[in-house]
Amino acid sequence: MKFGGTSVGRPERMHQVKDLVTSGDEPTIVVLSALSGTTNALVGIGEALADADKALAKERIDALHAHYLVFYKELLQSDSARAKAEGIIKEHFEFLNILLKISFNEAINRDILAQGELLSTKLFYTLLEELEIPAVFLPALDFMSIDENSEPELGKISEKLKAILAEYGDTKLFVTQGYICKNHRNEVDNLKRGGSDYTASLIAAAIQASACEIWTDIDGMHNNDPRIVDQTRPIAELSFDEAAELAYFGAKILHPASIWPAQLYNVPVKLLNTMQPQAHGTLIKAEVDAIGVKAIAAKDGITAVKIKSSRMLLAYGFLRRIFEIFEKYKTPIDMITTSEVAVSVTIDDLSHLGQITAELEALGSVEVDRNQAIVCIVGNEISETKGVIKSVMDALEDIPVRMVSYGGSRHNVSLLIDAKFKNEALQRLNTGLFSW
Ligand code: ADP
Ligand code: ASP
Ligand code: MG
Repeated sequence: MKFGGTSVGRPERMHQVKDLVTSGDEPTIVVLSALSGTTNALVGIGEALADADKALAKERIDALHAHYLVFYKELLQSDSARAKAEGIIKEHFEFLNILLKISFNEAINRDILAQGELLSTKLFYTLLEELEIPAVFLPALDFMSIDENSEPELGKISEKLKAILAEYGDTKLFVTQGYICKNHRNEVDNLKRGGSDYTASLIAAAIQASACEIWTDIDGMHNNDPRIVDQTRPIAELSFDEAAELAYFGAKILHPASIWPAQLYNVPVKLLNTMQPQAHGTLIKAEVDAIGVKAIAAKDGITAVKIKSSRMLLAYGFLRRIFEIFEKYKTPIDMITTSEVAVSVTIDDLSHLGQITAELEALGSVEVDRNQAIVCIVGNEISETKGVIKSVMDALEDIPVRMVSYGGSRHNVSLLIDAKFKNEALQRLNTGLFSW
């Protein structure tokens, strides 16, 4: 059971989480995010330190500290539990304050980012202790690891976690941190923003859990982005492939990579609402019956790269030569379209764009369009459902479409548009594709 930032962001919510994790019969591993706002605040502290603006860093550390000093008093009642929480908060804020006196680097920044989940889990565990609810505290840094490409080491995670759990045969409840891990240099690292979902799915896969529950602040995966579109509704069931596609293409409710581990071991994933625990939410599993368009998501910050070469395109090996350049710079490609004379691809990691375009120039003329957005329409067998592409294009009306990807899988149509049209496109597709 994973609880996100809002689910643990207020003392009364943490109490609700305590009720939810103690209401079932099955042994449960509870994965917690940082309290809402904390990771953003830690990012801000890291940025101030990186800019050598110690005064600003100090101001931000103090503001966050003040928040925790109010939080624990509302969370805990007994003197002993409060004394324990004071000790925990003191330890973590002393650590942050020491950083004001030493030189900053990226490894330290990752240590800063880890403080949120360490604090939330320790405070939650103190609440369980105060209420005499038996539980074991599992430090994620003892088993969660990533390799030199920042990929989780599922085999090792599984081995270590199973060994740790075997030591606590009778325990029903475990508490651990989302998001944080160790890297191949044995430093503290993380699974990127929103990574607690990924932790939960990796744990579920590592121990072949009966279910992976992601508890958040909304009643499941909605059919469109509720932050942008007015009338959205929750989807009762999704296949792993559909959910993975939506997560990857911008549905913030799930970390982009959080589906594959659960899918690998066929562990059903449930998206549930902490504020409304009775709501059905979304069940994500291997097979689903419903056919047709189910949801729309969008991801901005996309850059399109077009390589034009009248001489070479149809020659075999040309695409391979293009892809090898992206591979060399470890830059994933999201979308591809081809024509007789040109290939367009999209990327969202721009760290090596300069080197990539320099090498692509050897193959043809290169054009780069920044500030694009991928809009992804997901459903079951939509490539076999009549008229989907027509309804999509009709709904978009005069919004210019830069690329279309259709038929790559049976459950997705992706479009590339200028990011300035993203919100309008989502709204229009909502009206055009979901008439209810
Ligand atoms: P948590 O802190 O629990 O991880 P997140 O903020 O990461 O929560 O994710 C939940 C949020 O995702 C929702 O409040 C909602 O605004 C946003 N969201 C974006 N797209 C979708 C979608 N398609 N369905 C549901 N929620 C979505
Ligand atoms: N606390 C981390 C973040 O805000 C991880 C998470 O919430 O999933 O990104
Ligand atoms: Mg999240």
